Amino acid sequence: MSSASSPKGFALGSTIELSARGFPPQSHPMEADLFCRQSAMPGHDQSRLEAAKFGVIGAGGLGSWIALGLARMGARDLTIIEPDSFDRSNAPRQFMFGEDLFRPKAHVLSKNLIPHFTNAARVRGIASAFDDDVVGVNLGLDALIVGVDNNEARLAASAYGLRNAVPIVFVMHSRDGLRVQAFLQRVGGPCLSCVLPNLDPLTFAPCATVSIAGCFLAAGHAVALAAAVVMGQDRLPIWRETSLDGSTERTGTPLRVPTCRMCSSDRKLSETTVALPLGL
Ligand SMILES: [Zn+2]
Repeated sequence: MSSASSPKGFALGSTIELSARGFPPQSHPMEADLFCRQSAMPGHDQSRLEAAKFGVIGAGGLGSWIALGLARMGARDLTIIEPDSFDRSNAPRQFMFGEDLFRPKAHVLSKNLIPHFTNAARVRGIASAFDDDVVGVNLGLDALIVGVDNNEARLAASAYGLRNAVPIVFVMHSRDGLRVQAFLQRVGGPCLSCVLPNLDPLTFAPCATVSIAGCFLAAGHAVALAAAVVMGQDRLPIWRETSLDGSTERTGTPLRVPTCRMCSSDRKLSETTVALPLGL
């Protein structure tokens, strides 16, 4: 990876690895388990969640709260990949403090997450784009969540998932910031290009209009899908769209497209696809 100095002295393009101790153990056998509430949910498998290795691309308004959600749920292994540094416009939506200005988001988010890990955990922050330096490495992930503003990274993540048989969760804001969409690219299921065949790799959507409410809504979908896929829940709709005002709530299960330019080399293809309510 490349390396350069940031204004605050962090090395951009570098990796840091931190350890979290997690919450104290039970002080009495009658004390409730940390995870008793979520473990009682149908289909929840805490042991599989804790054994999974999660990756998050993007440490901004989406990645901040996705990573925090995974840390609180009990994830023990988290890798965060993001090339940018924090600026003042990030503060209303992202998990950063005044002292974090101008520092690499991947490193700062890793640091800020440490007291939030409920279990003992390892977090790795890679201050790099999800580009050739990272894509070529099999990070050994069980699920990768993508909360970025550019199609180049989305397509790279999709290709990474196809090549390494890793499920990928994509979350996105609509252009007006009023709706969020989430898609799970399962192993063997439709890929991102099956459902969004016209994604331009050069297009950026810099989230000019977005609030933390939309970020929380999107992060909720992302954490739910990522947790479900590592816990082996296989009946969930893989496409979701919801709006901040509650007027839109759509789900769907699109099928693979036989002519898809990304995944059509695999011949276990579906015959049909479905139209999706896309607002990207
Ligand atoms: Zn495809």
